[in-house]
Amino acid sequence: MADVSTDAIFSSERSGLTLGEFAREVLSSECEARPSAPSDQDQKPVTCGKGCGACCRQLVTVSPAEAFAVADLVDSLPECRRREVEARFTEVEIRLGEASQDSNAIDETPFGERLLKLDDPALDDEAHYCIAREYFSLQIPCPFLGSDEACSIYADRPAPCREYLVTSRAECCNDPFANEIDVVPVSISRSEAMGSLCACLLKTEVQLIPLSLCLAWARSHRADRRRRWDAERLEYNFALHSEAVAAARSMPPRDS
Ligand code: SF4
Ligand code: SF4
Repeated sequence: MADVSTDAIFSSERSGLTLGEFAREVLSSECEARPSAPSDQDQKPVTCGKGCGACCRQLVTVSPAEAFAVADLVDSLPECRRREVEARFTEVEIRLGEASQDSNAIDETPFGERLLKLDDPALDDEAHYCIAREYFSLQIPCPFLGSDEACSIYADRPAPCREYLVTSRAECCNDPFANEIDVVPVSISRSEAMGSLCACLLKTEVQLIPLSLCLAWARSHRADRRRRWDAERLEYNFALHSEAVAAARSMPPRDS
């Protein structure tokens, strides 16, 4: 992984960027660069479209920088809308709390707590799969999913939402654990690169924060949220982490 000296990129000046501001910059520039349908892999058209929100009931995890960006976005909303969104996040927390009480999972740790420990090195791929399946079974819509099944923060949505595109039939997404889903591979996951950079800067393991819990998470990490970093060096080191993530990823062969 890229070697980043956190001391070198910490900004003592107020002019630096917070991680949330940096994430929003990266995502807004990436938005322009995103290739559109049909996918460049096999010319099968991408199925995804506005008003198609089954995937917004899946467990989506974001990096700390994206969680901070989401919290900043919510804080910047007009009061009426902000209260509405905050209430939806609270609803999700309550539902996950209720799920904790009657979960049939073998692991007796409350579900909400398990969701906040997805970065536990003891969890293998199968454990992550089981947690994701359990989350989807709850059918909890993302707090940003509108009643029209469209994303209400489309221009500001986190990287995993931008990067998840499929070429299989939209109906298959109603149960992605029973149906085969053809996901368009991405060579660089911006969220993964951001997570890797954040781990390096914040001196933690790579953190996977559930999008539906990220508001509370960001608000409980106020010091990291406010900390500012030298913008140019942040950009440079993000590029290094992106390269490292791209190199570590192997492009899976496509099914015909
Ligand atoms: S991933 Fe599936 S549910 Fe989500 S927008 Fe694409 S086709 Fe629709
Ligand atoms: S942020 Fe938008 S695209 Fe992402 S899960 Fe939520 S509603 Fe769906």
